[in-house]
Amino acid sequence: MPKEILEDLLKEYEQKKIRAELDLEKRKEKLYTKIPALKNIEDELNNLAISTAKNILLNNNNSIQDFKNKVKELNNKKLEILKNNNLNINYLKPNYECKLCNDTGYITKNNYKSEMCSCLKQKLLNISFNKSNISNLDKENFSTFNENIFSDKINIEEYKYNISPRQNIINIKNNCIRFVENFDNPETKNLLFTGNTGLR
Ligand SMILES: [Zn+2]
Repeated sequence: MPKEILEDLLKEYEQKKIRAELDLEKRKEKLYTKIPALKNIEDELNNLAISTAKNILLNNNNSIQDFKNKVKELNNKKLEILKNNNLNINYLKPNYECKLCNDTGYITKNNYKSEMCSCLKQKLLNISFNKSNISNLDKENFSTFNENIFSDKINIEEYKYNISPRQNIINIKNNCIRFVENFDNPETKNLLFTGNTGLR
């Protein structure tokens, strides 16, 4: 997978994330004009964060628990106001497409290591899937396979085989079906198709 594909996808993710956050800002602005009490709570939360940061720098150890309690109290007030206005509690959160990675494409595990999110992995898979012919699977599969386009005449001189091309392709098809049916068996060997470029 070329590096550019991942880079392009990550650019897309960044745009998506910014869009969700701008969208939230617009939503907030509208709502705060309608319900100024919510704006007051947000201002209070911001001021609280600044004063707590200052207190921590001044080694005031009581301030963290104090801060947590006050934040909880203010958030509860906020939720109450939202509820009274028939608004969802998520109304004041960015509406990210992926709730796991918040549209960053990566998640942080418990060991603080970051890992590609399943949404990004899926996008990369889709791209490689579409690039391969596998995406034609609904048209080209075992049930639409037509051995009759192969000759049933044995021609040792041309094919160096004492079976007809039709019988040969039927054998290949049966081998492929066996391979698929036993795909999860560790004893199963890989299939290798060889031939000139462009042959199907
Ligand atoms: Zn994700």
